[in-house]
Amino acid sequence: MKTISVLGGTFNPIHFGHLRMAQELADTLNFDEVRFIPSANPPHKNTPTISAEHRAAMVRLGIANNPIFTFDDCELRRTGASYTIDTLHDLRAELGTQASITLFMGSDAFTEFDTWHRWQEIIQLCHIALVQRPRTAGNKLPKILETFLQHHYTENSGDLRTSPAGFITIRQVTALDISSTAIREAVHCQQSIRYLMPDSVIDYIHTHQLYKHTSTP
Ligand code: ATP
Ligand code: MG
Repeated sequence: MKTISVLGGTFNPIHFGHLRMAQELADTLNFDEVRFIPSANPPHKNTPTISAEHRAAMVRLGIANNPIFTFDDCELRRTGASYTIDTLHDLRAELGTQASITLFMGSDAFTEFDTWHRWQEIIQLCHIALVQRPRTAGNKLPKILETFLQHHYTENSGDLRTSPAGFITIRQVTALDISSTAIREAVHCQQSIRYLMPDSVIDYIHTHQLYKHTSTP
């Protein structure tokens, strides 16, 4: 069975927090591929000041030379809000009903999962693998998500590899307290962003003078 995982995000910009969690999850769950899917029009965020094309270009640079990391521009090719449910339908059309598909997600994203468009249908189309994001340990899950998590929870990574969808698991990864927001602010304040992301991405930011004039969003 094919095991494909997906890391979606604004990637404004991509950083080692994204890359390391994707690598460690793929290793511990024994998955074949991680697809990085930048959101064109994130429904839960202000419109990013950096274009989807720039954000996608940085993702491509960031994942270069990793044979299990791939890039998918399906959300860039659609118009309107970038809903994960639509992306999953696109993936199913491509991969079929039998492939195992897993969404990778940080705990901050999962805390708001019940506000995602048609969120209850998502778990019928994929699994979810969660990691704890640093400094979010105190954040409480809404009751509805606690119940949802309990209902779908498994500790067994084999469940994710041998069925197409329906399970949620939680894994520990190296805690890296890096965020795109902090990176945007650092560039804006003319502080160094070395060692927070691949040098190729840093070069791209400087070449295109990104984040210099606006720190947020
Ligand atoms: P921003 O500060 O602009 O929100 P971000 O750093 O949170 O950016 P996103 O593109 O919003 O990055 O995140 C995409 C996904 O990656 C989310 O599921 C998020 O939880 C996860 N993620 C981001 N940074 C980390 C990190 N340092 N460790 C673990 N997971 C992360
Ligand atoms: Mg975020």
